[in-house]
Amino acid sequence: MLELHRDHKQALRIRRVMLGLVAYLMWMLVSIYLYLTNLVDAGVTWLAGYFLLMLLTNAVFILAIRRDWNLRFNDPGMTLGQISFGIFWGMVLLAQTLPEARGGVLLVFVTSFFFGVFRLTTRQFLLLTAFASLAYAGLIRLDWSGMDLATRRTELSQWLFLTIVLLWMSFMGGYVARLRANLRAAMGRIEELANRDHLTGAGNRRAITGSLDTAIQACRDSGQTLSVLLLDLDRFKQLNDQHGHLTGDAVLKEFVQRVESALRGHDFIESEGGERLGRFGGEEFLVVLPSTNLEGARQAAERLRQMVEQAPFETEGGPVEVTVSIGLSEYRAHDEAETLLKRADQALYRAKDKGRNRVEMETGE
Ligand code: GH3
Ligand code: MG
Ligand code: MG
Repeated sequence: MLELHRDHKQALRIRRVMLGLVAYLMWMLVSIYLYLTNLVDAGVTWLAGYFLLMLLTNAVFILAIRRDWNLRFNDPGMTLGQISFGIFWGMVLLAQTLPEARGGVLLVFVTSFFFGVFRLTTRQFLLLTAFASLAYAGLIRLDWSGMDLATRRTELSQWLFLTIVLLWMSFMGGYVARLRANLRAAMGRIEELANRDHLTGAGNRRAITGSLDTAIQACRDSGQTLSVLLLDLDRFKQLNDQHGHLTGDAVLKEFVQRVESALRGHDFIESEGGERLGRFGGEEFLVVLPSTNLEGARQAAERLRQMVEQAPFETEGGPVEVTVSIGLSEYRAHDEAETLLKRADQALYRAKDKGRNRVEMETGE
């Protein structure tokens, strides 16, 4: 398929302009109907020119997005501008339409405002309402002297009803805008809940395995390297027994802070697509290091280990000495998350076996 724009958001905006074109096409059909039934005071040339200019307007919007000119605006979607032009072109046809058909044409005209209901705030919508209402009033004013009393009454009530309907849509639009904002906030909270470990604030297992999968895919796609560290706090059961479970919890929190600050201090590029540290379970954590070979990972792991060991953890129950054991492995061709983690786990097991508070790398086999 033809790529509308390399940027996903911009492509979406172009698609939205194209969706608007459907409304324009509908409008053109209305124009043709009016022409065929002699309800519009215009010839073929007028109609052709009218269609051309309307298409040109849309072409300019599409061009503006393709060239990224729209990014300079407050509203890069240019919704307000697009609807304003829609109103303008609508008014141009209405001005040519004979009074007896205007009421029906207005009905179709109002549908163009629906596009705004999902995007605009009440204020923006009121602005458009004022524009349309004034434009229609101006249009009546132009023909006023040629109208008989009945037509004047019809036109004035049409103007009034148009204004009322648009005012109503303005407030509905504002309501929808607020609904969308709430929904976005709720989505953010749900996302947070789904991916964050409640106790420590680190990523949870779901989040960290997600970024591990992403990192593995990057290795497959572009031959990058990747290492993982599996961390397990030493003799944590004993710590819980001696100091209490609450102190254990506090240690887990501080542990995460230390590891995070150690990771931040390192010159790893911020990994795309999320977490680098996640709570894998209990007092076990996983660190994903994209673009890092085994030696780089060993240095990082050693720094983490020292960060934990270097000073006692200050808890409400007093200072607590904590150490951590770390096992690491590096991505190999055809690795799955499972096989990669298994080698890190074996290395971790060896670190425990050799006395704890140490870093062990996967073996060559
Ligand atoms: P090892 O050095 O071999 O790892 O010894 P360990 O005592 O740490 O052994 P293990 O890893 O099997 O023990 C995990 C303990 O961590 C058991 C559990 O009570 C404790 N733990 C797991 N989750 C939490 C938690 O959320 N809070 C607290 N306070 N303790 C936890
Ligand atoms: Mg442990
Ligand atoms: Mg454990």
